[in-house]
Amino acid sequence: MKFDVLVIGAGPGGATASYLLSKAGLKVLTVDFKREVGSPVQCAEFVPIQISYQFPEYFPQGSVAQKVKDMVHFTPWGDVVSMPSEGFVLNRRIFDKNIMELACKEGAILKLRTRFTGFENGSVVLEHIDTRQRLSVKADFIVAADGARSKIAKLTGQHTQNFLTTAQFTMPLNKVLSDLIIYFRDYIPGGYGWIFPKGKLANVGVGIDPYYPINVMSVLKRFVEEVTSEGWVSRKILERTGGWIPAEGIKNPLRKNILLVGDAGGFCHPITGGGIANAILTGRMAAEAIINEDTEDYEEESLDTFGDSLNRAAQKRVKYMKSWDNLDHIIPRTWIAFDEYWKED
Ligand SMILES: Cc1cc2nc3c(=O)[nH]c(=O)nc-3n(C[C@H](O)[C@H](O)[C@H](O)COP(=O)(O)OP(=O)(O)OC[C@H]3O[C@@H](n4cnc5c(N)ncnc54)[C@H](O)[C@@H]3O)c2cc1C
Repeated sequence: MKFDVLVIGAGPGGATASYLLSKAGLKVLTVDFKREVGSPVQCAEFVPIQISYQFPEYFPQGSVAQKVKDMVHFTPWGDVVSMPSEGFVLNRRIFDKNIMELACKEGAILKLRTRFTGFENGSVVLEHIDTRQRLSVKADFIVAADGARSKIAKLTGQHTQNFLTTAQFTMPLNKVLSDLIIYFRDYIPGGYGWIFPKGKLANVGVGIDPYYPINVMSVLKRFVEEVTSEGWVSRKILERTGGWIPAEGIKNPLRKNILLVGDAGGFCHPITGGGIANAILTGRMAAEAIINEDTEDYEEESLDTFGDSLNRAAQKRVKYMKSWDNLDHIIPRTWIAFDEYWKED
């Protein structure tokens, strides 16, 4: 089988590339090992509002759980710090699926339950998970959008090896909340806890640096204890999830005819963990570079746009977050809501 472009991974990064490439008339195959695009959700689901100006078609009815205004931070030293953070908490199940549906309407072929396994004699080897049937595919270009633990990145050069580990419950929210809530605590080492409102529900989670020998689920339970006793949420677990957040910065995004987008290329913020918008934007940059037959432009544009901010955050993680004491010194230097973050490297 021969395609113009093979896209591996149908998250926001891969689906965006698939959508724009198909729209430009290219023959695109997209594969994902999931049974259903967007499910299960492994995310707290916040996106900044700007992405809706650029991609209004990504926001059909049902894709947004609620709007939010600010990000409000609770520090261990008792301050409450607010920062404007206008955006949406999504229903990613609907959001991700919609992008892939847009791609399929433009002619992209989608194969689910299909896993990328490697390369063989200039072809890509895929395997159907249920039947174990192997498929050999040739493509002029490959968009690697296979997420944080990208196998393509690993097989072709540098890959992310340091992550934030996360765990999250969806719980009933006790009050109407129009802000994102962030907690910094001594018992959440190298990371933070969050309450992201979704109407009557909330995503309640923690991310920690796995450098610390501590079980993420025990950290989540302690966080849930704190926020339920403070009355934010009720003690009922409706959903459980978690996952890996790349925490090293960008890994060379262009490898011959392979373009790494989103988490696969490390385009996720190594401290905040925000990566949905970056995945969409790098998916678009990769598609445009392929359409214009200038893939080097992808490398240049993606590094120009994200290099400084993501690599700087990755350096801050190494410099400050491998010890978790003196938090009134570390947190202002490693979190974007504080002036110190922007002043000091
Ligand atoms: C708990 C948690 C909370 C988060 N909260 C936020 C948030 O609030 N806001 C935000 O912006 N970001 C958040 N993120 C990060 C965000 O989820 C990612 O940055 C974003 O999903 C990256 O999109 P992507 O398209 O690059 O990869 P993904 O969305 O991870 O998609 C990759 C796809 O590739 C598929 N795949 C993987 N390997 C293979 C293979 N070998 N063969 C075939 N298919 C494969 C997967 O099934 C998946 O569908 C969070 C992450 C976690 C873990």
